Formats: sequence, C-alpha cells, structure tokens
Amino acid sequence: MISLDHWIPDELHIMLRIFDRLWSLVLSELKDVDQFDNVCRNEIVKEMNRIGVRFQFWKENGSNTWNYTSLMGNDKLKVLKDFNLGQILPPLRAKKIRELWDRFNLIYSNLKLKDYDPHQFQFEAEDWLELFLTPDRVIPNSNRIEKGLYSPSAITPYIHVLVYHISEFMEIHKQWGVKAFSCAPVEKKNHQQVTYFFRQSFKGRGSKHKSVIKEILEYESRSLFYLFDDVVTSTPKPKKLNIF
Ligand SMILES: [Zn+2]
Repeated sequence: MISLDHWIPDELHIMLRIFDRLWSLVLSELKDVDQFDNVCRNEIVKEMNRIGVRFQFWKENGSNTWNYTSLMGNDKLKVLKDFNLGQILPPLRAKKIRELWDRFNLIYSNLKLKDYDPHQFQFEAEDWLELFLTPDRVIPNSNRIEKGLYSPSAITPYIHVLVYHISEFMEIHKQWGVKAFSCAPVEKKNHQQVTYFFRQSFKGRGSKHKSVIKEILEYESRSLFYLFDDVVTSTPKPKKLNIF
C-alpha cells in the first residue's frame, strides 16, 4: 500500500479530463438547442483544420450517436487556446465560454510553474469555479434571462481536485513543483512504443515467437545503447560514380 501522503494528482490528466468536460459541455449545449447538425459539424471540422487539428465526426454502424476524434494533449491545448467558438455559437455565448476556457488555460499554465504562490493559485482556481457556475440572471428592466454557464452537477472529480486540492500539493512539493510529477513523459513514451508496435505489426505474433513486451523492451534497450554509447547509426552513403 502506498501511504496517502505519497500520492499526487497528475497535472497532465487535470488538463486532459477538464478539457474533455469543457468540450463535451459545448457539444451538449449545441444538441440541447438542436444545432448539432451537419452544418454545425462541418463548421467544427473546418475550424479544427484552421487551427491545425485533425478532427472528424462519424457514426458507428447501427448506432445513432456521433463519435469524434479523441485528441492528443497538444491538440487539446490548441483547441483550448485557439478554437473560435463564434463559428458555432451566438457571439455573446461564444464570448462567455471563451472567457471560461481562457481562464482555465491560464490556471493550468500557472499550475505548472514551479514558483507559483499556492494561495494565489487557490484563489484563482476558486474564482474560475465561480465563473464556471455562473447562474442564469434576469436582465434588469426586462423580462429576458441571460443564460449563465454550468450547474454544479457538471463539476467532475478532476475539477474538484484542481480547485480544492492542487494548492495543497503545490505547497507540499514547493521544492520540485507539481509538474515534476507529471505523467506526460510516461504517456509520451507509451505513445511512442505503441506507435512503434503498430508500425512493426508484430501484433498477435506474441506467443509464437517472443512476447510483445519482450520485443518492445529489446527495442528499447537497443535504442538506449545507441543513445548512451554515442554510436553513429548511419553510415555514409556510397558515392555514385558515372563511368563513361
Ligand atoms: Zn476533496
């Protein structure tokens, strides 16, 4: 058992999972007002292309729900920073949600800074949650209602951790910063190896020859050998001579 004071939340997943929530809240809002049609989906794909993110919607056979590309961390950050919500939402609505996204992005950047003041962080995170929970409000001298943002039921465990626990971990691990414990490098490595695995297509070959894990480990140790021993991995190309 790892003792309770030896755990720390992973900054990468705070960003990934809270982004997922923010994104799906936008999509469900579009569905609620019956705007989630082909035109809208096209706009989303077009806007994703504009900011350099590959993105698609598709329907699984026999299913009625739209699936969409699950984005990698970098792409999520691009969407969080640059996606123009005005392409799919009315201007005022887009502005409101954009502010929420921008401030989340800011909090997330601060979270990764080694010397950021934990109290300041806590303060800003709580402020952000307040914005997230903006209630509907009656516009004075009219009976129109300005729609707020989201209800408490939209809060996820990661949002709770971000707002109520991260500052404590920032305090405890001042010496290193929360980012020092990030899962990002491990995820990156995992991604590289999975990519390598699919490229080599030694899937399913496991039991017949060598276990896949063993093969990946051997590949890994070969790469490390070249890296640490400074071995030149390419030989000079043979010169072509034209003989007349
Ligand atoms: Zn708690």
